[in-house]
Amino acid sequence: MWVSKLRYETVIGLEVHVELKTKAKLWCGCSTQFGAEPNTQVCPVCLGLPGGLPILNKKAVELALTTGLALNCVLAEDCRFDRKHYFYPDLPKGYQITQFYQPIGREGWLEVEFADGPRRVRIKEIHLEEEAGRTYHLPPGPDGVAASLLDYNRSGIPLLEIVTAPELSSPEQARVFLEELKAVLECLEVSDAKMEEGSFRCDANLSVRRPGEELGKRVELKNLNSFRAIEAGLVYEEGRQRALLAKGEPLRGEEVRAWDEEKGITVYMREKEQAADYRYFPEPEIPAFVLVGDWIEALRTNLPEIPLEKRRRYREVYQLATADAALLSRRKAEAAFFEATLQYYQGGAQTVANWILGELTRLMKETKKEVADLPFSAEDFAALLNFQDQKVISSKIAKAVLAEMFRTGTEPAAIIEQRGWQQITDPSAVKMLVRETLAANSSAVQDYLGGKQKAFAFFVGDVMRKSKGRANPELLNEILRAELERCRSVGNREYQGDKQ
Ligand code: ADP
Ligand code: MG
Ligand code: ZN
Repeated sequence: MWVSKLRYETVIGLEVHVELKTKAKLWCGCSTQFGAEPNTQVCPVCLGLPGGLPILNKKAVELALTTGLALNCVLAEDCRFDRKHYFYPDLPKGYQITQFYQPIGREGWLEVEFADGPRRVRIKEIHLEEEAGRTYHLPPGPDGVAASLLDYNRSGIPLLEIVTAPELSSPEQARVFLEELKAVLECLEVSDAKMEEGSFRCDANLSVRRPGEELGKRVELKNLNSFRAIEAGLVYEEGRQRALLAKGEPLRGEEVRAWDEEKGITVYMREKEQAADYRYFPEPEIPAFVLVGDWIEALRTNLPEIPLEKRRRYREVYQLATADAALLSRRKAEAAFFEATLQYYQGGAQTVANWILGELTRLMKETKKEVADLPFSAEDFAALLNFQDQKVISSKIAKAVLAEMFRTGTEPAAIIEQRGWQQITDPSAVKMLVRETLAANSSAVQDYLGGKQKAFAFFVGDVMRKSKGRANPELLNEILRAELERCRSVGNREYQGDKQ
């Protein structure tokens, strides 16, 4: 198998469909809200009834332009649409309005940090189009007749198609690219980009060839409904095509195949259609219009920092670990909270990152909450971490304080005060606790002195339990060690810690 891997190259190009985050649909005022009762967000225009007249939603154009700018595209000088004809019940007009002759953006790129280093992946084009409705296929009923249900709520939602050049070279690269693209779209706030709600979807094209040869015939994969499915489907298809090539039976024609999640295979659907099949022509009901330079410049000025830039800044300015910088840069709200916390925190940035990605994320996942739901401020969060650094509380107690802040929104100082959670940092108080423990466990002390190192952790645990986790850990370690040494020198039998 590895021999054939060396002899073939895989080439992947992606077509990503992204629902743009507008309140109203592309040509009418109907709501785009996800999850409504079927066919409640429809009107003659988005149902494609005769006489319905489309009026372009400016916001959709703005979101498409913003995406084009962030993806370094050459933007079209004017905006125009075309009709793409095909028949399917989810498209009652019999044609989809899209941009064929003049996509709103072309020749862009997105820089992605792959396992073997950063690289710009070229974007062939981005174009604006309309969503079709949604079809639900029902299994055959008792009479043996299968049926399909149609929901037109989705029909006419603005869709941006982002097409990459064929230059991703492995299923893993395809997944990493898509994760980065999704993060960019979320950061731009142009789309919810939720794969599970269908607002971020991908068809993947894959071909194989021998190095130096021209591009091979490709297969277009459909029904890839998760990042895992995309990678698994491509891995399967790569193996299938390599095996065919190895047998001297390269693909005869380009085809569309569907990923079968359950069986873990791709299944032939149809031959790939050609552009001529669609009878494209300019859409006569939406006049072309010029995209004014001032508008575009204003959008450019307002572009946020994209995840890659943020990641680099976090590594370079804050010296964050690579993996943490990557995680934070892809979560906009967490990243903003991280930076806000740093304004008030006296310690290192990595500590803040650890707490946000660790304990705070755990609490949010557990309760299905987001940063926006937090009942405390970044300033309170910083105060908590400062208390920990100043050894007012141990890190273990700090987690308990955070849980309480998370639940009630109370300030950390008040929680620590009310609960009496301050750390015991007075050496004589800690010494007293240690001596109690040693006196009460003389056989364990003998075990320890006899070489059983594990007993040490037992003593630590016992003191912590008695102090309700408040004993300062370093101090406890130090004093415990000293007291045990004393036991060794005086002989355990005479050790009566509390009487010294
Ligand atoms: P069409 O619109 O006819 O499907 P495009 O040229 O727009 O074709 O390409 C669609 C997608 O397929 C793009 O992402 C492109 O990178 C990819 N692609 C095209 N040719 C190949 C190939 N030989 N191998 C892999 N991917 C390809
Ligand atoms: Mg295409
Ligand atoms: Zn409508």
